Amino acid sequence: MKLKLAIQKSGRLHDDSIKLLKECGIDINNGVNRLKTEASNFPLEVFFLRDDDIPQYVEDGVADLGIVGENVVMEKNKQVQVVEKLGFGKCRLSVAVPKAMDYSGVQDLHKLRIATTYPVIVDDFLKKNSITAEIHEISGSVEIAPGIGLADAICDLVSSGSTLFMNGLKEAEVILKSEAVLIANNGLNAAQQQILDKLLFRIKAVKKAKNNKYILLNAPNNNLQQIISLLPGMKSPTVLPLAEEGWSSVHSVLNENDFWDIIESLKAAGAQGILVVPIEKMII
Ligand code: ATP
Ligand code: ZN
Repeated sequence: MKLKLAIQKSGRLHDDSIKLLKECGIDINNGVNRLKTEASNFPLEVFFLRDDDIPQYVEDGVADLGIVGENVVMEKNKQVQVVEKLGFGKCRLSVAVPKAMDYSGVQDLHKLRIATTYPVIVDDFLKKNSITAEIHEISGSVEIAPGIGLADAICDLVSSGSTLFMNGLKEAEVILKSEAVLIANNGLNAAQQQILDKLLFRIKAVKKAKNNKYILLNAPNNNLQQIISLLPGMKSPTVLPLAEEGWSSVHSVLNENDFWDIIESLKAAGAQGILVVPIEKMII
């Protein structure tokens, strides 16, 4: 028994999808121009497909699992389950209007022509906001549509906003914040579910490790308690005596989000020689 996982053949999600599998300790032979490949050390077969087709294949059970952007999952609106957010492929789906337009809110989209490759999501957004506008579905290069007079506004994926800027547009509304997700067929049997759980366990350990750092520092014993109280750790920090009298080495794990604040407090409390190292896997 093997699970079939569909990932993007080439494009923005391809490399990160392969990297995630590698970080999960799954070896796949990623030859170019291949349709599928098998993992040598995990019950997984990987299919390389266009991202737009992945939700359909997963709904049909041609693939059991898929890695795609949430934007594609929503647009295709297939019967699949979103199992886990993967933390890469982050972008937003936004409405953009010409820079010169005086935009003050969604009501300004009324009666406009909006060009997009996401007609389903845009239609839903307009309905929710009781706006009537004309949706022009086009298949690519959406950002040039206003410039050539094809539309008054667009809805497209944005990451930095520089493409919009270069085309004389500005971001007006964020409709959706998206990242890559793992989707699964709704009818997995017990044996398939078991493999999925095994894969998920690894993905979670990898994600957790990325959000945390291992920290080592030297603390003066006279301020040790204060320094320890600043460090959450997985249980509590490890404290080892240094060869030099009056000092200890303290080891702990810090979350990326609290990182800089805690480092500052640690320095203020007299910590020295602070080392911060990445964690490869983290299982709690
Ligand atoms: P395919 O040939 O597989 O259909 P594509 O051209 O539709 O590829 P890509 O441009 O490779 O797709 O983008 C794939 C996914 O990457 C998007 O659906 C989105 O979830 C994500 N993504 C992340 N950042 C961006 C961005 N700045 N622009 C577009 N997509 C992005
Ligand atoms: Zn696509």
